[in-house]
Order: sequence, then C-alpha cells, then structure tokens
Amino acid sequence: MRQRVIPQLAPFGNGRRDINATYETKARGMAVLNSPLLNKGTAFTAMERKELGLTGLLPADISTLGTQVMRAFVQYDLLPDALSRNIYLTALHDRNEVLFYRLFSEHLREMIPIVNDVTVGMAMEQYHHECRRPRGVYLSIDHMQDMEAAFTNFGAKPGDIDLILATDAERIVGVGDWGIGGIEVSIGKLAIYTAAGGIDPTRVIPVMLDVGTNRDSLLNDPMYIGNRHARIRGERYDEFIEAYVKIATSMFPTALLQWEDFTHENGRRILTRYRDRICTFNDDIQGTGAITLAAAISAVRASGTPLRNQRIVIFGTGTAGSAAANKIRNAMMREGLSDEEASKRFWCVDRQGLLTRSMIGNLLEFQESYARPDDESHGWKHDLNGTGISLAEVVHRVRPTMLIGASAVAGSFTEAIVKEMAAHTQRPIIFALSNPAARAEANPVDLISWTDGRGLIASGNSSAPVTYKGVTYVVAQVNNAMLFPGLALGAIVSRARRISDGMFAAAANAVSSLVTVRQPGSSLLPHIDDLRRVSLTVAIAVAEAADVEGLAGTRMDDIVQQVQDAMWQPEYRHIRAI
Ligand code: NAD
Repeated sequence: MRQRVIPQLAPFGNGRRDINATYETKARGMAVLNSPLLNKGTAFTAMERKELGLTGLLPADISTLGTQVMRAFVQYDLLPDALSRNIYLTALHDRNEVLFYRLFSEHLREMIPIVNDVTVGMAMEQYHHECRRPRGVYLSIDHMQDMEAAFTNFGAKPGDIDLILATDAERIVGVGDWGIGGIEVSIGKLAIYTAAGGIDPTRVIPVMLDVGTNRDSLLNDPMYIGNRHARIRGERYDEFIEAYVKIATSMFPTALLQWEDFTHENGRRILTRYRDRICTFNDDIQGTGAITLAAAISAVRASGTPLRNQRIVIFGTGTAGSAAANKIRNAMMREGLSDEEASKRFWCVDRQGLLTRSMIGNLLEFQESYARPDDESHGWKHDLNGTGISLAEVVHRVRPTMLIGASAVAGSFTEAIVKEMAAHTQRPIIFALSNPAARAEANPVDLISWTDGRGLIASGNSSAPVTYKGVTYVVAQVNNAMLFPGLALGAIVSRARRISDGMFAAAANAVSSLVTVRQPGSSLLPHIDDLRRVSLTVAIAVAEAADVEGLAGTRMDDIVQQVQDAMWQPEYRHIRAI
C-alpha cells in the first residue's frame, strides 16, 4: 500500500488552504523515491537530495517539471496503441504523481479516453493477470467485520479525506461486470477529478466493494483475485452498502461519497436511500442528466423557444435517458411548470415502443411518470412488433422539438425520422448521446446535412468540426467530465451537507454560460481543452448554490477565492525531512 504523505496545509475550516504548502516526511532514500506523492525524480533540488538521503540515488542533472513533462510526453507519444499508453500512464501515476497530473492536465482531450472508458476496459481485462500496484481500499462482502480496519489501515485521519469513490463494478461502460478489476475505473475517474477539477489527490480514496462477480470467465480463471462467487444480492447487499456508508461517513465525516458503475437498479436505490442523508451523488445518473441539461440550455438559447415549451422525445429510457429527462423536467419546473405539466412535455420510447400507462406494472419505476395516456395514441400506427408504437411514428405524431437518444442502438435516428422532425421545427435539437461512435443513434455529419444545417446537435462522442454549405459546425460532446470534477470541487469547498438538484442545475447553467450560441455552427458546450476553466466555473456556481440553499457547512465569504485556493495544482512542493 502506498505511503501516505502529510501535506502541511492550513485547516480547512475557513475553506482556505495554502497552495504553496510543503510536504513533510520521515522517509529517506529509496523510500522517498518509491512514494509517488513524494517522488520528483530528477527534479529534487540539491538541498532536498541532501536532506532526504538521495545523494547518489539520482543522476546529477536537476530537471524542471516542464522538462520532465516534455520527456514523458515524447515517451507516451511513441507508444503504439491506447492500451500501452494506459499502462504507461498508470506506471507514471505510480511513480510520480505530480508529473503524472501535470502531463495529464496539459493533455486532457487526448488522455481522458486513455485513463477512462474503453481503454480501462481493456486494461481491466488484464488486471488480475497484471497485478498492478494496489491503490485504494478493498472491501469484501464476505468480511464485513474488516471494513473499519481497512479504512484505518489506509492511514488517513477524519479531516484528511474529501472524496471517496466506490464501485461494485457491475456495469462498467463497454465491459459490463468486471469484478475486482473494476477498481481501475475508480482510480481513473479520480485521476480525472484531480487533473480536470483540481481535487487534491492526497485526499481521495478509491473503494472496491467486492460482492462477487457473475462473469463466468472470471469465476473460472485461476488467476482471478476477487471474491470467487456470484454477486450477492438483496438484503445482504444492502447491509453491506449501509455498513460502508456508516463507516465511511463516521471515519471521514466531511467526505463526499460518489457511486460509480452500479447497475441502474442498485445505483438508483442507493441514491434514493442516501441522497437526503449524506453528501453523495451518482455520476452515471445525475452527472449525465446535468451535462445533457447544460447542452439543452444552450440549445434552447439558440432556438429561442424556452425549455418549458419544448416537446421532447427520449429514445432509450435507461440510466442516461431517464436521467436526462429528470434533469430537464426539474429545469422546466424551475421555469414554472408543475411536475405533471412538465412530465407531459416528454414522450419516452424504449424497446417496447412509446411508453404508455397501460404498460405500468411492466415499466421501471422511474419510467412510469413519463408514461403517456393510452387514448392519446388511438389511431397511431402500432408498427413495432405488432403492438408497440415506433420512434418513427412518435416523431411523426408528436412533432418534437428535441430528440435525445441514449439507447446504444446504432443508426436508430434514420434520415427519414430526422427529416420528418426537421420538417416541423425550425431548429431541431438532436442529441445522439450513445457511445462509442459505433453505437451512436446517428453521426453529426448526417444530422447536420439531414436538417440542412438547422439542427442544434450534440453527440456522446468527440467529432471533428463539420463544414456544411460554407458553415463550420463545432459539435458539442456531451461528456460527464465537463461537470463532475467541478461539481465535486464546489461541494468540497462549501463542505456541502447534501448535493441538491439546485446544485446540479447551477452546474449545468454554469457549463452552458461558457458558450455563446449566437454564431451559426457554435458548439452547445465548451471544448474539452477548456476543462480546468470549466471546472472552476462549475465549482464556484455549485458552492454558491450550496450556500444559498443553506447546505454549506462552512462560511463562504469569498467563494471565488476559496474555490481557487482549494484547486490542487500539479506543482512540486518543497519536501522537508522531519
Ligand atoms: P441503459 O442500458 O441503462 O439504457 C439503455 C436503454 O435503451 C434501456 O432502457 C434499453 O431498454 C433501451 N433500448 C435498448 N434497445 C432499444 C431499442 N431497440 N429501442 C428503444 N430503446 C432501446 O444504458 P445507459 O447507461 O443509459 O447508456 C445508454 C447509452 O448512452 C450508452 O451508449 C452509453 O455509453 C451512453 N451514455 C452516454 C453518456 C454521455 O455523457 N454522452 C453518458 C452516459 C451514457
């Protein structure tokens, strides 16, 4: 387990910290070089080398961090594929955290997919074969009694931790159930929190909640290192989660708890149980909803038709689709609609076609409030498997102004559907959120041409600018990374007791406020290259919302300064031998 470093920081009570803090350590010689938080490699100064017992353990040259970053990028760039790059970055993370974070934060667009997403999926497939350096805390459902000891052994004091990110790794994007190897996703995600949002990497814990795995290839693999049984469900699972929440919040009372890669059912149940009890959120559900809302806010600004007047078709009402609907519905309610009036602005289409009230009982709970009255669709074609009403028919009848896809059904937004929509609305708003690109409902090039350049388009994938009839369209990528680092930073700085819908709305508005949509072809969201600036803006808005709603646990006298002060910078601190 890695050695914990004691950053000598001012107490957090007034929300301020000394960013020029030094690190103090009793470690000497190789122990310093082997600690990723202390190690500066060739950048240790002559004085540090002397004090820390490093004389003779390093080449004579004293590098700057800038030179080290250049050197590291050259090495990274020479590597042949995404997996080798992931392994290189992981090794660098394990060797020298500041250098890793500086390199990562200077190349966010290029490296987020390498540290996160599919590449981690590939890395995880090899996790138990590779046996990487362990990071974080492993909790087993078979040894619940060891939970407290596990956190104690991590070696942090109650005020030392800002963020704990836990996964049970049942539903990792592009991979599914990946058992113990899923901890890599938590580690990758936390790295994005730091590189993009300035969350202090010495104050986070990745947690693996090992409840078993249902993947036969893992269960049958003699080298698998997790609990070798089927996933435990039901009461025991819930007890395990409850024990985790109790222990984590009692040992680290100021920590924000994030849930990552749970199934929709477990994720939603956990969120419902804890969101009004502790400071917590689920990024797959709430982060996705809020970043989609941010794109929707920009789109309605460009279209001139307020959100409350939009007619919205959601195609694929699982985790992402329903989260988008919920956050947009909440925003409509803030514009003055009642819950019922806002719900009526949505038509949700899933595998069975348009969701209608006669299906209640067979719908997931969160889908029920969007089910349409059956008499509305009398006379509509039931053209899906003989009983259901297809997306094409819904678009034809409803004449939506906004179409959001989160189905992972490639090509489901056909030319005919898009042209039908575009025939009845001046600025069709179309978000094809599914990723990777091979699963997208439509690609941006087609969407722009099928709407004759009138479409306000966002995609779940990154895409190059598209030139159509002389206008260059910058297509927004709907990516949670725009939102969660800043959201967490704002919650941490304000010591928020809860994360409210108002805080998510503030985050979405803040993201949208960073783009101007007056120019034809403008992007609906900021560019990923601006992520640190976006995170800062989001954090300020979230901390302010927490303060306004009475949820802040500390005085917010100078919010902008407090957020800026709290952003961890990838800079070498002076290391003092004690
Ligand atoms: P999910 O499995 O929870 O939801 C998918 C939904 O689509 C389910 O309700 C499913 O029944 C429905 N569906 C499947 N086939 C269908 C069909 N033929 N017709 C209509 N509906 C159908 O998955 P999810 O987590 O919501 O993710 C969905 C997609 O969105 C994935 O591609 C995911 O990668 C992407 N996503 C993108 C972002 C982003 O920020 N861009 C964020 C989260 C998820």
